[in-house]
Amino acid sequence: MQDSIIQKITLEGFEFYVKRDDTLGLINGNKARKLYYFLQNKALYKPNTRFVSFGSTQSNALAALSDFAKQNDFKLLFITPKISNFLKENPQGNFAYALKNQACIIENTSNLSLEQKALSLLEKDDVFIPCGVACKEAELGLQKLAEELKRQSECLGLEFDLFLPSGTGTSAAFLAKHSCFKVFSCACVGDKAYVKAQITKLIPHYDFSNLFFLEPPLKFHFAKPQKELLSIYHKALKQCKIEFDLLYDSVALLTLLAYQKAFTKPVLYIHQGGLLGNKSMLERYKHKFGSF
Ligand SMILES: *Cc1c(COP(=O)(O)O)cnc(C)c1O
Repeated sequence: MQDSIIQKITLEGFEFYVKRDDTLGLINGNKARKLYYFLQNKALYKPNTRFVSFGSTQSNALAALSDFAKQNDFKLLFITPKISNFLKENPQGNFAYALKNQACIIENTSNLSLEQKALSLLEKDDVFIPCGVACKEAELGLQKLAEELKRQSECLGLEFDLFLPSGTGTSAAFLAKHSCFKVFSCACVGDKAYVKAQITKLIPHYDFSNLFFLEPPLKFHFAKPQKELLSIYHKALKQCKIEFDLLYDSVALLTLLAYQKAFTKPVLYIHQGGLLGNKSMLERYKHKFGSF
């Protein structure tokens, strides 16, 4: 994996740096970092090995895993909640993308949880990937990112405060473990307590001394269209010429701006990639608020 560039931008008058992990390639953003171990070790798995995972039909993890399987002649089995007839008849966004990559998307019609259902389908030699690629293997790619950031910061003669949003918190937790810089994040799925619990589930006795969660300055529900989130997306697009993700980055950018005076070092924001998912979100925004 090649280093992604660091760029200086100004958003709403606040100057900070962006690590362009959205430019890493077909698989990009934190999913590229979290899948790094599997990409490095793909020779360990026979052709047609089944990777089994679960989550939302529009998740970036689904798209990234479908690319990973397609590129390497593996199979992806992905368990989702019941899929609406509308989406089945009009596939779009990450769901359509994964179908094109021949992902086998299985609706959970049982009483089992998605995870239980996924586990029930496991056969010998299958590889199970937890929801959102929140697994121990994710550590290697985040460790590599920490090393890359150290090298790049030395070249630039700068020290940073790092900022990235959290879903499961896996990316932020492993980055904070390995980085010489402080890592700041905000919970985008559930609240701070939920993310911290997710992290501790994955990494028992996790030491939070280098990971700081900031409270987003607005009330929101994950993946629910909200004007403020669309507004900062458009501002970033216009003022910085960078497209950010609507689900996580929008929340994080608003949080970053709200706390801009609290940072003691220049901020380096880590772009989370996954822009494919914006397409279906923008459709939902249009449906809810009309055209912008
Ligand atoms: C998956 C994803 C996240 C969440 O990453 P975690 O490691 O689960 O915290 C954040 N932003 C984007 C764009 C994602 O696709």
